[in-house]
Amino acid sequence: MTERFEPTSLEWVERCVKTQKFTANDQGEVCAICTHEFEEGEDASTLKCKHQFHPHCVKEWFKKKAICPVCRASARY
Ligand SMILES: [Zn+2]
Ligand SMILES: [Zn+2]
Repeated sequence: MTERFEPTSLEWVERCVKTQKFTANDQGEVCAICTHEFEEGEDASTLKCKHQFHPHCVKEWFKKKAICPVCRASARY
């Protein structure tokens, strides 16, 4: 375990997070950072682990930690 959870740059976030329009799936996704549900057609950022967050929420979060707030998987590629 040599993973480091250091502050990240916005440039890094852009590379590791895919942002696209949210489309409802059978899980009824909620942004775990602000705990608000996604609205159909809203922008959603998807991490490597498939968890989805609001783009502005995830950018704030990644200033502190480069891990998924839900499953704690490393968000780095
Ligand atoms: Zn959010
Ligand atoms: Zn996750």
